[in-house]
Amino acid sequence: MTLLTFRFAPSPNGALHLGHAYSALLNQKLARTAGGRLLLRIEDIDTARCTPELEAGIYRDLEWLGLEWERPVRRQSGHFADYAGLLDRLVQEGLVYPAFMSRGEIRAFIADSGKAASWPRDPDGAPLYPAVDKALPDKERQRRIADGAPFSWRLDMRAATARAGEGLCWTEFTDETLSASRQVEAQPQAWGDVVIARRDVPTSYHLAVVADDALQGISHVVRGMDLYRATGVQRLLQELLGFPAPRHFHHRLILGPDGRKLSKSFRDTGLAALREAGATPGDVRRAVGLE
Ligand code: GLU
Repeated sequence: MTLLTFRFAPSPNGALHLGHAYSALLNQKLARTAGGRLLLRIEDIDTARCTPELEAGIYRDLEWLGLEWERPVRRQSGHFADYAGLLDRLVQEGLVYPAFMSRGEIRAFIADSGKAASWPRDPDGAPLYPAVDKALPDKERQRRIADGAPFSWRLDMRAATARAGEGLCWTEFTDETLSASRQVEAQPQAWGDVVIARRDVPTSYHLAVVADDALQGISHVVRGMDLYRATGVQRLLQELLGFPAPRHFHHRLILGPDGRKLSKSFRDTGLAALREAGATPGDVRRAVGLE
């Protein structure tokens, strides 16, 4: 039997809070129960926002919590060539296209369209990318690129879903014990032409996650409910790239005293702040319901 493999994959663009502690400890508990592996992955493709200090803080917080993970830790910023290779496959297959509009230009385009109120939005609330670049003649595209115009690579969602075929699903466990599961329809179309590679690096969150989960043999993706809908896009990319589909459990989110999702700037629930205020790892476990 192959070992079940779990991962905790924080981004060092802020300090860890109680929500991360819950996610990390739940992955550890599930890996131990299954006699499986726990990997830590540092998702630092955003080279402007991720810093070595924040990364060091993650290791400090996790060690303090008593998390044990395998070494070496995979840091995504060290593997841009891997992602570039996968991106190239999608380019060759005509499933991505260069997209020239910046966020500001997208907003302006939508405002000018006279359809701002009814413009479709993705599950995170961002407007779907207007289909204008897809209509650009190849010559114009080449000219812009040769002129040094910045661009990202976006998935041609229509072509991609046609390639993947009908009925794309993922397996979602129904509770923390992972004893029962159901099939969830992926519905990646809700995201429109998502970014597959950003302007500055040859990958995006989605591509890097899918690449690493496959490369690292992750069998179980256990992460917060906030990423539930993103799983549809990731499932599609797995299908297009010929990667296996890990099983998923999207866990409850730990909410702040105001009933809202915790954010990295939410000081009182930051693990370092709690530690400095005298909290113990046991207090953290109790606070997240994992004694
Ligand atoms: N790096 C992502 C985050 O910190 C999590 C990615 C994942 O678990 O798939 O939100």
